[in-house]
Amino acid sequence: MKTIIEPFRIKSVEPIRMTNRAERLAFLENAHYNLFALDSENVIIDLLTDSGTSSMSANQWAAMMRGDESYAGSPSYDRFHKAVHELMPFTNIIPTHQGRAAEKILFSIIGGKGKYILNNTHFDTTRANIEYTGAEAIDLVIAEGKIPSSEHPFKGNMDIEKLEAFIKEKGAENIPLVMLTITNNSGGGQPVSMENIKQTKYICMKYDIPLFMDACRFAENAWFIKMREPGYENVPVKTIVQEIFSYADGCTMSAKKDALVNMGGWLAMNNPVWAEAARNLLILTEGFPTYGGLAGRDLEAIATGLTEVIDEDYLHYRISSTQYLASHLTAAGIPIVKPAGGHAVYIDARNMLPHITPLQYPGQALAVEMYLHAGIRACEIGTVMFGMQANGQEQAAPMDLVRLAIPRRVYTQSHIDYVIEALTEINQNKQDLSGLKIIWQPKQLRHFSARFLPLDAQEKQKENFVKAFAVSQ
Ligand SMILES: *Cc1c(COP(=O)(O)O)cnc(C)c1O
Repeated sequence: MKTIIEPFRIKSVEPIRMTNRAERLAFLENAHYNLFALDSENVIIDLLTDSGTSSMSANQWAAMMRGDESYAGSPSYDRFHKAVHELMPFTNIIPTHQGRAAEKILFSIIGGKGKYILNNTHFDTTRANIEYTGAEAIDLVIAEGKIPSSEHPFKGNMDIEKLEAFIKEKGAENIPLVMLTITNNSGGGQPVSMENIKQTKYICMKYDIPLFMDACRFAENAWFIKMREPGYENVPVKTIVQEIFSYADGCTMSAKKDALVNMGGWLAMNNPVWAEAARNLLILTEGFPTYGGLAGRDLEAIATGLTEVIDEDYLHYRISSTQYLASHLTAAGIPIVKPAGGHAVYIDARNMLPHITPLQYPGQALAVEMYLHAGIRACEIGTVMFGMQANGQEQAAPMDLVRLAIPRRVYTQSHIDYVIEALTEINQNKQDLSGLKIIWQPKQLRHFSARFLPLDAQEKQKENFVKAFAVSQ
């Protein structure tokens, strides 16, 4: 059979409220054209994030009833520990309320001024937690990882030469650890190959530096290894996952991704001295080490989720559904970052809307139109998110993308067909889209709360005149 179906039946449904364009225009004006300010009830298909948005299975809900809420020594912790340890056999596994809590604790212990943390690409919260301690977060992804059109199968790989050169230059004693983010979220959900993990480990061992995984999408990364890396075609995903973590000395994890739950995370490591320090900090902000910011029922849901996320039928469906969206958008002539990542498809809005200059926010213009046209919510990752410099000047981000993140086990193929149809229609009339201007913004992280207005006709004319003038010079 060629048709790939969702490998589940639906037992419990959540109604979607349908809206029309006039209603959506009113909601949008009310939200000042910032999609984060919309009520989610007024969104038809929500592709804002894949984080914490998974559907849980009947088995997870059943397991939650077993949740033992004892303060210390709960059997739910034992089941959580066993499930994590089966895949990631670290000697210390410390639950946290989400991934960033694990990061905060880890970098409080090993960060600080004069230190460098090296990664393929740091996720925003990872970078923020490192920089908060005074340390520097350095990204060393391979060159292909930054080229949207490059079809390299493992665009999340670490640049091994740059890694070694950096360690030699700054001194291993100033590098408390090296990280690999699998898959590379900020780089488009691109995987890291097993070969690259081994090479990174080899360099780390040579200089006696521990290797930690930012493990959020470990199962999706393992599936890409099985599909794309010679020698792994017939290896079970579980074995691939175990091999990945056999090269690591620890990990941070957001259970909101590949543990198929809505909240949770953990910090794991072999170093007993760091682990003791971590448990002491954990008690300050998260809780006792056998629950760490989570309820017993949350630990149960994670334990069950970890067995489901490495199911190969699930992973086949998961990655196929992302690729299905990507291939149909490509067929419709919509430029996307290639190849599709595990959890999201990224539209290259700057390339799609060349008549909207970066400082008129083509990504925001497209995201706003997707909502107006069809009630679809996506996320701008471009000049709105990254364009404001520390000196208060604005400049174009390296790319203007719109991320369509796919929640796990939430939408069916007909929902995705609806998204494809909407984007195809928008693409046909894309010359009618216009840019926006920001009329209010906070000092930091402006994308969450900035207020926008569409450019009016006069402003558009002026912009075009300036553009034409610049070209003629
Ligand atoms: C989501 C994420 C985090 C942070 O996890 P939270 O649970 O959202 O705090 C860290 N790293 C990566 C790669 C992520 O995707």
